[in-house]
Amino acid sequence: MSRHTTINELVECITEKMKTERGKDLKDATDKDVYYVITSIVNDELNSHWLKTEKKYRKKKARQVYYLSMEFLVGRLLESNLLNCGLLDTANKALQKLGFDPEKVYFQEHDAGLGNGGLGRLAACFLDSLASLNYPGHGYGIRYRYGLFEQRIIHGNQIELPDYWLKEEYPWERRRVDEAVKIHFCGQVHMFKKNDGSLEFRYENTDQVMAVPYDIPIVGYENEVVNNLRLWSAESPSSEDEDVASQNSQYYHHLDHKHSIEQISGFLYPDDSSFEGKELRLKQQYFLVSASIQNIIKSYKKNSKKSLNYLPEKVVIQINDTHPSLAIPELMRILMDEEHFSWNDAWKITTNIIAYTNHTTLSEALETWPKEMIQNLLPRLYMIIDEINERFCKKIWMDHHHLRDKIPELAIIAYDQVHMSRLAIVGSFSVNGVARIHTDILIKKEMKDFYSLFPSKFNNKTNGITHRRWLLQVNPNLASLITDVIGPQWIKRPNQLISLLRYTKDRPFLDKIDQVKHENKKALAKFIFDRTGILVDDQSIFDVQIKRLHEYKRQLLNIFHVIYLYNELKDNPNQDITPRTFLFGAKAAPSYHLAKEVIKLINKVASIVNHDPEIKDKLKVVFLENYNVSLAEKIIPAADISEQISTASKEASGTGNMKMMMNGAITLGTLDGANIEIRDFVGDRNIFIFGLTADEVLHYYHHGGYVARDIYNTDDRVRRILDQLNEGWFGSQEIEFKDIYYNILYHNDPYFVLKDFDPYIESHELVEQSYRDKFTWLSMSVTNIAHSGKFSSDRTIQEYASSIWKLNKI
Ligand SMILES: *Cc1c(COP(=O)(O)O)cnc(C)c1O
Repeated sequence: MSRHTTINELVECITEKMKTERGKDLKDATDKDVYYVITSIVNDELNSHWLKTEKKYRKKKARQVYYLSMEFLVGRLLESNLLNCGLLDTANKALQKLGFDPEKVYFQEHDAGLGNGGLGRLAACFLDSLASLNYPGHGYGIRYRYGLFEQRIIHGNQIELPDYWLKEEYPWERRRVDEAVKIHFCGQVHMFKKNDGSLEFRYENTDQVMAVPYDIPIVGYENEVVNNLRLWSAESPSSEDEDVASQNSQYYHHLDHKHSIEQISGFLYPDDSSFEGKELRLKQQYFLVSASIQNIIKSYKKNSKKSLNYLPEKVVIQINDTHPSLAIPELMRILMDEEHFSWNDAWKITTNIIAYTNHTTLSEALETWPKEMIQNLLPRLYMIIDEINERFCKKIWMDHHHLRDKIPELAIIAYDQVHMSRLAIVGSFSVNGVARIHTDILIKKEMKDFYSLFPSKFNNKTNGITHRRWLLQVNPNLASLITDVIGPQWIKRPNQLISLLRYTKDRPFLDKIDQVKHENKKALAKFIFDRTGILVDDQSIFDVQIKRLHEYKRQLLNIFHVIYLYNELKDNPNQDITPRTFLFGAKAAPSYHLAKEVIKLINKVASIVNHDPEIKDKLKVVFLENYNVSLAEKIIPAADISEQISTASKEASGTGNMKMMMNGAITLGTLDGANIEIRDFVGDRNIFIFGLTADEVLHYYHHGGYVARDIYNTDDRVRRILDQLNEGWFGSQEIEFKDIYYNILYHNDPYFVLKDFDPYIESHELVEQSYRDKFTWLSMSVTNIAHSGKFSSDRTIQEYASSIWKLNKI
């Protein structure tokens, strides 16, 4: 099979494989059978490219980048693999010819939900771009047996169900026992003085865990490149022990031990942008880091005769947030204890290999581990971290007198806590933020003193998304409409979408854009009806907020606006408003009480608004449960308005904003994250911006001056809403939202929901007016699509490759 395969050849191949691999005739085949047959055909195609790619890298002794991440939110792979192999059209037609619905077949795959949200999805987009741009780059992560929980909404409440995504065979992974490595935890470290005076460290009584890799192919777009995503699974080291154990009283002890080892890759922690200091999480981090670094060194040794002194010529490691920052002391440990390098030589190698991406400045997200926990779990690593810290603090003391007072705020170990971001900054050669404003805040505020110590380390890499999945795959009709007018070059060079600017006043083209959006909205409306029984008007404005539920993302502000509109309509039922559909999708961390209250509130408002005959279907509110990559793929092509309304300074970048812009939605947002760069490209007339700026927010935080109650006292609209939350609707005490009410009035509205309420309402009024002028709206929409090429992850990866990784295309 290849991109030159014809429909009939594929039909024949499917028929044949159905017999040989599934033992069935096509007429008896289920969608699942067809799914497995197609994946098998794709795998046949991939395997040869995979081998060839590996050989090529080895032969060229290519410099490689390794992307270490605790999360990879890849979503379904069959459709994107078909697309990248150039087989998607043919497969769609072959399936139809055989009487199968391609969508139903692709949907047989269980989403690989090995991530929480933006950070994990970014890692997945980066792998797609690396392979598609012919870069030697691979991912390392963990093969969690349970991915992010599945969300159900029952009586308006979030219920979490386990996501056992491996229930049925996952056809994309290959187990590679031959590449397994051993990981050591706990035990004691013994120090010996050797004859030459140098020190040697030996570890005793350690707990041993096997890290067994499962490889997933990462397919480049029509270039026959297949890179590798290696996910580690934790297993008990020796099965011989099992026989011994089964013969004596240790049997249950043994099973217990085995179980606790397997727990290391048992489940993904469900927290997004917040830190949970559980020991198991620390184990997971070291497990990922140790297995990956051992593997990287092994493969360097296999391919190079030179000493490890030259490792930085061939290897660069990007760590996705601080979660894998133990890579720094782990690499030091291997170089010193196993490869016998001196401290100075090992430090030079390490700090030339590791690069760190910062994802947030939220204080609740910053990782700090109790020093005792690291000491107990990773005694040798602790010694190394301690020494890194000693040397770093000494250097500040000696060379930077003006920072002497600040040592407690800069030290890697301070007040018995190990600060992972400080370790990551000191032990790496590059520190990057993920959007211009975010990097500015790092440099000027959060990491100001580190910046003064290491100015050349700091740089910005604004995030991106793969336009192959987020346009070409999810919105094929828009993609082909674009190709009709500007040709297909944009697919390989997404910047060329800019040529669409010539068509922003072209009425026949805008009409077609309108048709495509409307078809997508009809499809989503049908999906919503099938899932929820709610009928939405496909002529209404589809106003979309889909992202993790977090106070800083302010879903609360959004639902306040909906309540406001509802109250207005109740007061004045004959008001002529443009019908609107408000769509929400969001998972809350299971322990995040206020976030769950907001989910409950959205669902409560939905049940009131959707069933009130007086509203006459002018407003609909829909909460779609279990937001994940596949659901995003359904919703985004149908969005008119993209809600990106975080409290300014809080959202590092956002990527949902980019996905929706690329599909022609207009952003309604604050000056935060990448919204700012979106505005700079499209201009003020093609985006709706409102609210406090980051500087204003930070000023209030530091100097006070904001009193939420003043707004409650003076704004009738706000008071009415808050009282409704406090007292329950229509005097019914049945459901009330006192916790939200108290958080705003008694904790002084920490995310400025009331402060931004009025400008937000005003912006929405502007949205409504603009939507009435169809052609202006469509021309805004096309302007957004035209500029979205800059937010392709191809651009981001290009920047990482040339300015951080110094990577060549193969
Ligand atoms: C893109 C994406 C995100 C990130 O969305 P933001 O709006 O940037 O927070 C989260 N989850 C899923 C499933 C995504 O596809």
